[in-house]
Amino acid sequence: MSLVEVKQQLVDCIRMLEQSDIVDYNGHCSLRLDDGHILINIGSCQRSRLTVDDICTIDIEANQIEGRDMRAEVKAIVHAHPKWSTFLTMAGQRYEPVYAQGSLVHPIPLLDSPNSINNRAMADRLAATLGSRPAALMKSHGAVTVGKDIVEAFVLANYLEENAYRQYMALQIGEPYVFTEEEIELCREKLWNENLFKRTWDHFHAKLR
Ligand SMILES: [Zn+2]
Repeated sequence: MSLVEVKQQLVDCIRMLEQSDIVDYNGHCSLRLDDGHILINIGSCQRSRLTVDDICTIDIEANQIEGRDMRAEVKAIVHAHPKWSTFLTMAGQRYEPVYAQGSLVHPIPLLDSPNSINNRAMADRLAATLGSRPAALMKSHGAVTVGKDIVEAFVLANYLEENAYRQYMALQIGEPYVFTEEEIELCREKLWNENLFKRTWDHFHAKLR
């Protein structure tokens, strides 16, 4: 992919997240390039009308605000303030896998602070909370997902929020069925799949206005 194509993919990712109510007037997606530079949307951009001109390039030092000592396999990060996922953290409800795709980010660690990640100490706390997991929740704040590419980070953010929505709704009418470890393992084997991630991406991409 050319640099412009990569930027466009990042733009599409953010616009799809905005259309899905996962990203609001804050929130960002970033991608680490092979040369160590980071592509990220500028803070003041209109996420619903994003273009490649709203993507800036920053050096690794600046990126350490987001995720210091970032794992080598992690290339893309989504940080957003999705409602349903955050409701669970506000009410002290544990995220439970209640639909197949949602099991891919389970168990999801929780950053036990609503503070923004805008200094080293908070970045370290978030990195320590995330550990080697693909996603983390941030109490009364939002969520972060990471991936080997933009598609993966996008798809995981989508699965996380969709699962939280279904869990929240099911809680209104009873006790949701939570997948067993065996069922979670089966889901992971079947659904952690690049082609299926691409299919999810394509589904939302086709709906982009
Ligand atoms: Zn935030």
